[in-house]
Amino acid sequence: MGTRAREILGIDPAQLIEELNKAFADEWLAYYQYWVGARVVTGPMRGAVEAELNQHAADELRHAEILARRIIQLGGEPLLSPDQWSSATNCGYESPTDPDVSVILEQNVKGERCAIDTYSRLLKLVEAKDPVTYGMVLSILQDEIEHEDDLESLLRDLETARKK
Ligand code: FE
Ligand code: FE
Ligand code: MG
Repeated sequence: MGTRAREILGIDPAQLIEELNKAFADEWLAYYQYWVGARVVTGPMRGAVEAELNQHAADELRHAEILARRIIQLGGEPLLSPDQWSSATNCGYESPTDPDVSVILEQNVKGERCAIDTYSRLLKLVEAKDPVTYGMVLSILQDEIEHEDDLESLLRDLETARKK
């Protein structure tokens, strides 16, 4: 990070880097949970659900890239080993051991709600202190809000299909 950029930062970069790395761990775990979930999912509407899970996986990977770039720009280092993800994560990981479509969707909804909480908290942390991270986190939060909505819609569609 350049000299002036460092001067306008109203927050301790080390604290910010740590928070961003925790979110970075969340994104990789979310990516994999979606990716592997899309591969194993079974049940009604499988095609539609698989497509949505794949899209979300791509979004989470993109979020990881955005976070890594900002961490490096702040003079930090993104977590270098997957071993670190499970201790750094805010939102954890749920293995899709039951491939049922509703179970997988519920697991992912839970993850999205945690992501929304995490990024809302992060927004408040950097508000008026780091406009660059603020804008970045806001755009990620918008995606997570859309993700939760997409999954809830699929769960409602499944419910409707089951009643017929
Ligand atoms: Fe994400
Ligand atoms: Fe998401
Ligand atoms: Mg979607």
